[in-house]
Amino acid sequence: MFDDIEADSQKINEECGVFGVFNHLDATTLTYFGLNALQHRGQEGCGIVASDGKTMRQKKGEGLVKTVFRTGDLEKINGIHAIGHVRYSTAGGGGIMNVQPFLFQSLSGPLGLCHNGNIVNATQLKETLEQQGSIFQTTSDTEILAHLIKRQKGTLMERLKASLLFLEGAFAFILLLENEMYAVLDQHGLRPLSIGILPNGSYVVASETCGLEAIDAQFFRDVQPGEIIHIDKKGLHSEYYACEQSHQMCMMEYIYFARPDSQIENINVYYARKACGRRLAKESPVDADIVIGVPDSGMSAAIGYSEESHLPFELGMLKNKSANRTFIEPIQSLREASVGLKLSAVRSVISGKRVVLIDDSIVRGTTIKQLVCLLKSAGAKEIHVRIAAPEIKFPCFYGVDFSTYEELISAHKNVAEVTNDIHADSLAFLSIPGLIEAVGRKPNAYCLACFNGLYPIPIHQPIIQANKEIK
Ligand code: SF4
Repeated sequence: MFDDIEADSQKINEECGVFGVFNHLDATTLTYFGLNALQHRGQEGCGIVASDGKTMRQKKGEGLVKTVFRTGDLEKINGIHAIGHVRYSTAGGGGIMNVQPFLFQSLSGPLGLCHNGNIVNATQLKETLEQQGSIFQTTSDTEILAHLIKRQKGTLMERLKASLLFLEGAFAFILLLENEMYAVLDQHGLRPLSIGILPNGSYVVASETCGLEAIDAQFFRDVQPGEIIHIDKKGLHSEYYACEQSHQMCMMEYIYFARPDSQIENINVYYARKACGRRLAKESPVDADIVIGVPDSGMSAAIGYSEESHLPFELGMLKNKSANRTFIEPIQSLREASVGLKLSAVRSVISGKRVVLIDDSIVRGTTIKQLVCLLKSAGAKEIHVRIAAPEIKFPCFYGVDFSTYEELISAHKNVAEVTNDIHADSLAFLSIPGLIEAVGRKPNAYCLACFNGLYPIPIHQPIIQANKEIK
């Protein structure tokens, strides 16, 4: 009945997820649950650094949270404060060396550090720091912040403020000392970072609100662009290392990265995706029999498309429940060789039908081509692909794993050529104005650089040049 396909192998991989709990007897275990909720943001490696108030210990490894942490592991690093990280490597490459959080030891005490995002001037900073005597333990851009902090003078807040001014890029950091926690967001607010409160009054910091809900923490507020949150036994206070330059949340968080049950800046991700589907139906209607969505991130938009078009929404494609959302391996050759993630076409739903197939985005074009082929083999009469995002024509330099023009199908081909390539009967993308209107915030409240090439944070010329040369 089902025809199987390896899918998602060419989908976008998220940047990372960070999580922290301050002042709770079960901080380590709560962080473990928080990381499980953020697992969709990175499946290549994970770790926890915990403090019992005097000593800091860590456990990390490559793989999923449930496989890295075994029975007894959490007890061994039990603490009253903890930070955790799920990783997908976009900067510095993979391997255990780069799995976070990092735990640095120094005369002034231990420091735990984890990060979501990408420091765009990392190469330049690293070269300068190495010339001045720094020796790096990893190839991750995250480590740069620890070296910068070490070179400054004053309290940690003062040193942190001075260090952050050197960094350009999109970043959300959590830092843990024996009895203090810091949460930092870059000046443009590209990455989500939320604060919650547990029933006992303990503070929680998470990349997405679904992480807060996983441990019954109440949403308190989002960390603001340029803000440093400092939490200690006296409570939470806020300072700014720089004025907000703009507030431009990554649009791909709404389209693909975040979990549908998360709220990003007071907008529910599921409703945002559904609204994109409705708008897509208005912009690009088609005469068809059924609407189906690509599991998981195409489903919400498919429901919206179905509601607006009055075409029935059907479960035409299923995902293997034991499969992960995306492949763990970040290298193309390993992506292609990976096994374990499967989508199946439901032949009895598809056969003889004119199908509208909704997906969240097209990056390299390989997955959607496989899906069209899968549905045709399951007997679909026509396949009309509708994408609930505009064409991705520009690379992302802020921590998402399409950082070259070369890999983006829409950077090289127009819609007619892509339609031909993927063997669809028709193809349409959501317009940029349609996307902005559907998600519902002000037009300048988002980063849309991968759609329109307008990068909110300046990209160093050599990086752009290198990409153009490839193009
Ligand atoms: S370029 Fe695209 S993926 Fe990258 S931060 Fe901007 S919106 Fe997000």
